[in-house]
Amino acid sequence: MRQFVIVAAMACMVSACGQKAEDTANPFLTEFQTPYGTPDFNRIKVEHYEPAFLAGIAQQNEEIDSIVNNPEAPTFENTIVALDNSGEILDRVSGVFFALSEADTNDKIMELETRFASMLSEHNDNIFLNKELYKRVAAVHDMEEKGQIELTTEQHYLLDKYYKGFIRSGAGLDEEKQMRLREINKELSTLTIEFGNHVLADNNAYLLVVDNKEDLAGLPAAVIEGAAHEAKAHGKDGKWVFTLQESSRLPLLQYAQDRELRKNIYLAYTNMGNHDDANDNKALLKRILTLRLEKAKLMGYDNYAEYQLAENMAKTPEKALDLLYGLWKYAIKKAKAEASELQAIMDREGKGEKLEAWDWWYYAEKLRQEKYNLNEEEIKPYFSQNDVHDGLCYVVNRLYGVTLTPTDSIPVYNSDVKTYVVNDGDGSLLGVFYSDYMPRASKRSGAWMSNFREASADVRPLIYNVASFTKPAGDLPSLLTLDEARTMFHEFGHALHGLLTRCQYKGTSGTSVAQDFVELPSQIMEHWAMAPEVMKVYAKHYKTRETISDGLIAKIENQSHFNQGFMTTELLAAAILDMELHCLTSTDSLNVVDFEKQLMDKIGLIPQIAPRYRVTYFNHIMGGYDAGYYSYLWAERLDTDAFEAFKEHGLFDQATAASFRKNILEKGGSDDPMRLYVNFRGAEPGIEPLLETRGLR
Ligand SMILES: [Zn+2]
Repeated sequence: MRQFVIVAAMACMVSACGQKAEDTANPFLTEFQTPYGTPDFNRIKVEHYEPAFLAGIAQQNEEIDSIVNNPEAPTFENTIVALDNSGEILDRVSGVFFALSEADTNDKIMELETRFASMLSEHNDNIFLNKELYKRVAAVHDMEEKGQIELTTEQHYLLDKYYKGFIRSGAGLDEEKQMRLREINKELSTLTIEFGNHVLADNNAYLLVVDNKEDLAGLPAAVIEGAAHEAKAHGKDGKWVFTLQESSRLPLLQYAQDRELRKNIYLAYTNMGNHDDANDNKALLKRILTLRLEKAKLMGYDNYAEYQLAENMAKTPEKALDLLYGLWKYAIKKAKAEASELQAIMDREGKGEKLEAWDWWYYAEKLRQEKYNLNEEEIKPYFSQNDVHDGLCYVVNRLYGVTLTPTDSIPVYNSDVKTYVVNDGDGSLLGVFYSDYMPRASKRSGAWMSNFREASADVRPLIYNVASFTKPAGDLPSLLTLDEARTMFHEFGHALHGLLTRCQYKGTSGTSVAQDFVELPSQIMEHWAMAPEVMKVYAKHYKTRETISDGLIAKIENQSHFNQGFMTTELLAAAILDMELHCLTSTDSLNVVDFEKQLMDKIGLIPQIAPRYRVTYFNHIMGGYDAGYYSYLWAERLDTDAFEAFKEHGLFDQATAASFRKNILEKGGSDDPMRLYVNFRGAEPGIEPLLETRGLR
């Protein structure tokens, strides 16, 4: 490993000699010589990544060695801060590489990604299973517990984070248990991938082929055209093909008059991974749950959910379940009322049919048109990308005094990317913001926020938002759907969390917070996007510049409660299913499908609604949201309750904004999230605002 450090050192020497450094040196090995130290995309080439990763790993190994071999007794500074500051090159190259692997990838990057993944996970294991390092971290932790050292709150949480990181990686276990843990982790990593592959295979194996155009009655022309296109791609020219992909399945469920077609695709979707064939996931899920339970028990917990939630804001599965069951009774009541409304339409049709699960989308669409008559095309001209961006700037300026100044002096990785210097009300620098909103083949779908550089002490962050919004077409500028407008505000909420941070350490800074807390700053921003008084400021017709009418605003507002009983119920059913599966203390007699059926019967789910994901294709719980699917609703309770404070005192009330900034946005993970929340709001969040926002009462 040392040799890579020598390579790194040589590269620095060459540039010091004043030779043509920019042509030969790897730009990742030293600080970028650019405005604000932003990534030097004009110099970065794909061949720089691998040597930079290797040099970065070597550098960090050296740094870890010197922490471990420090003859002085462990202190917060020489151990915890030293660890937090280690890996500067690795941070620099990872920040850029993983940003591009998501937002502007190519074959070469994809190939490198697979290779780097195992290299980096091994590197991570080498740090968190390093016995000597763990001993020093544990010693500092011990000293604090015994009151021998005094730390600030932020320092305490940084120490806690590293200490728990070691414990949760198994550093505190004896040799034999550690060995078993590695085996479990290894088996889980392949089984969870296999689970996803089975879902994908079942997803791809299904084609619904329609021979006669008459059978497509009710479908919009664009959907029929898409189905004809899909048929061609499958060598079935002149026919129409539907797949289980959302963009194909949902329009069919929503518009097809032919009930058999709807039933066919619905049953295919809800039975993925459940065909007792090579792609069946029942036994696989049972094995995964068994291994997770064993892992939790190795770590000293009764069940896996307890292990997973220990470091979250909820802290215990009981707290999460309290919320889910608390919401359940309202959601299911609303869903039943919605079901009767749909049945009433069916009764009027006079076919004597009873509402089934595959009818829901179809009749809900009829109801939507009857009741709300809101056409997205009518709305879009008022939401050009530029106007929504201006609205966003208006909101953050009025709330926090923050300004975004466009600049073209900062290098970018793609000409679609725009850059802004972000300043505080007093003119001081907060950081740099990149927006990358154009869809490209090289970009994965979805929207996200991350950074090229995390903030710490006096270092300001470099934050980006990525999305794939509707493209400009001909004379039309990029016109956003309401969803997209909300998304822009949402992602910028995450960006503010990164930009406004006042944390001293990388490990506590910005969005380095618990999974069930991280969506608070983002989701709360969506409320301003759709607030009538804010829309009146930014929503202007792109051509006539006429402000959106009160009538249209009212339509937007009315529709926000539509079908929420159904949507909340299916979401809650999945979240409860996930949590209860991971609360099991034995899996010996578990049959996952029976378990789902019994649980859903117990909570009173109606047959016209299935959990948002059923056990055999619940990809979220394969890693990332295992015992974590409740987080979406947990965060929603926070954001709706927090926004209530602004509704009480004024959307732009300065004292409320200052408190939200000081207690939430500036604090990152430097304190207990519930304490931060209570400091802002004066009390723990209630569910009333969530129920009201979703129209559940
Ligand atoms: Zn988010």
